[in-house]
Amino acid sequence: MSDGLRIAVVLPDLLGTYGDRGNALVLERRLRWRGVDSEIVTVDSSAAAVPDSCDFYLIGGGEDVAQQSAVRFLQRGPGLQRAAAGGAPVLGICGGLQVLGTSFVLGDGSRHEGLGLIDVSTEPGTGRAIGEITTDGLLGGLGALTGFENHLGRTRVGPDSQALGRVVRGIGNGHEQLEGAVCGHVVCTYLHGPVLARNPALADVMLEWALGAPLQQLPEFPELTALRAERMSPARVRK
Ligand code: GLN
Repeated sequence: MSDGLRIAVVLPDLLGTYGDRGNALVLERRLRWRGVDSEIVTVDSSAAAVPDSCDFYLIGGGEDVAQQSAVRFLQRGPGLQRAAAGGAPVLGICGGLQVLGTSFVLGDGSRHEGLGLIDVSTEPGTGRAIGEITTDGLLGGLGALTGFENHLGRTRVGPDSQALGRVVRGIGNGHEQLEGAVCGHVVCTYLHGPVLARNPALADVMLEWALGAPLQQLPEFPELTALRAERMSPARVRK
């Protein structure tokens, strides 16, 4: 077993329909570029439970039915909850955001308790939010965040959490022009992409939490800088 950082991909067979597993590959690669070993630990729904020994947890998005199965699985064994309470970074995407929140109401009107790792509650909107989304990141030093959204849920951020970004283009949470939520080291967002491939600064902020130390800066790829500038251009944002 590697003695590097252990990155858990939680329930990719249930929640991971939009390439969210790519976030683990981004973390692994950005660590390797800094000479830090890591290991990706896949915890699918045939596992007994989520281990609490990992250093970073990722949970992706998915369909309404899969979200209910995911909550049932995660409530059976408290590994993720214990690791989060101990300060391990957790990144929840879309369906993952809803599952990590306090409650969510699905498209069929059924209400479900979430894990309560973050203070958000979700109810269905009047139509799906689908398309490119751009936000101004509200966590220190993040700058713009971009991604792709596809969800019915609309999410309110409660007093125990803060939003991850302010929406410039797209829908996001669907309330108060806000996107996502942050509580301690738990970060939730509607941005697929995968989000860490499109927003490496967010990957590095969370990796620094996991390592407990500042990371060496990496050179920017000119292609990525150009792509981000294009996604942020006013012509694209106005669409
Ligand atoms: N099922 C959820 C919704 O539609 C989440 C979708 C997703 O993860 N992309 O709101």
